[in-house]
Amino acid sequence: MKTILILAAAIALPPTAHALRQASDPHAVVTVGTASAKRGERAYGEIVVPAGVDSGTRIAVAVVNGSRPGPVLAVVSGAHGTEYASIVAVSRLIERIDPAGLSGTVILVPLVNVASFEQKVPHVNPIDGKSMNRFYPGNPAGTQTERASDLITRQVVEQSDHLIDLHGGDLDENLRPYSYWTVTGNAAQDSISRAMVIAFGLDHVIISSDRPKDPAASRYLENTASTRGKPSITAEAGYAGTVMPADVEALVSGSLNVMGALRMIDRPPQRKKNFLWFERVVTVVSDSAGIFFPLVDRDTWVTPGMKLGYVTDYLGRRRADAVAPEAGLVLYINAVPTMVKGGTVANIGILKKP
Ligand SMILES: [Zn+2]
Repeated sequence: MKTILILAAAIALPPTAHALRQASDPHAVVTVGTASAKRGERAYGEIVVPAGVDSGTRIAVAVVNGSRPGPVLAVVSGAHGTEYASIVAVSRLIERIDPAGLSGTVILVPLVNVASFEQKVPHVNPIDGKSMNRFYPGNPAGTQTERASDLITRQVVEQSDHLIDLHGGDLDENLRPYSYWTVTGNAAQDSISRAMVIAFGLDHVIISSDRPKDPAASRYLENTASTRGKPSITAEAGYAGTVMPADVEALVSGSLNVMGALRMIDRPPQRKKNFLWFERVVTVVSDSAGIFFPLVDRDTWVTPGMKLGYVTDYLGRRRADAVAPEAGLVLYINAVPTMVKGGTVANIGILKKP
């Protein structure tokens, strides 16, 4: 009898302030994989990709849940596990975000492609030979790359309002920093992502207008967020296995600048820069296999017919010259002697016509 009376009294009580806050705040607790952070907390964990048709993997994740409500931003890197500057940048960004001064939530995934990092294999996941930025939104019944992509889509992308995907020049890419701005055709969304690109602060921007529009076949991570209506960007810095402080800092401060622009943290906007906008990228491929010798550095303006490099056979006999087909900027050039027939010599950015 006594118990029933107490229960009745408990039910009749007005809800506590804590319960009210929980009910009105969908992000009172944010959980990604095994990381679960309440407001004002930073949590560490893993997205566990179970074994399937091949082995499983574990992808480290941190959740910084701000003391006040606001947007949810995902910052992801290491789809290509030897783009080291971006991986180091996101691992350092985790501690740079103070939950006490944060409005909203940041989900940080520094290294998607663990096997690539561990085995020092560029471009692909050595477990299944697939690029970890080409199989979104993923497939729970597919190979490791597809299963990981499926979990990242559901746990990271779908829980976020915005996403920043960080890359850089891979082991064999001598790359100058740049961002991508995806044009989806939704003017409101595109103006927000454009503001994110400008806030990030890399003053060379490639305009992507040819990305898939179908959310079920989005292929790229940033495109998975963009096709789900979430203004998002990709940024690249670092090259050829190096971890230059300026590249790491460009990616860390760029991400913080975007958080400032989204009013997640108190951070003054960057001083105005003159941005260069590239309307497309031309990939120059090699006619011949052999030993590659570059004749220009990254960030060189080239004119049509200008030699970018040449290839000799393994006995040193010159076999082919690689030339620029159009006027533009060398965004990256092959950084190593290895060259296969059809292999990438360079990516040339073509400036948007005024
Ligand atoms: Zn990459």
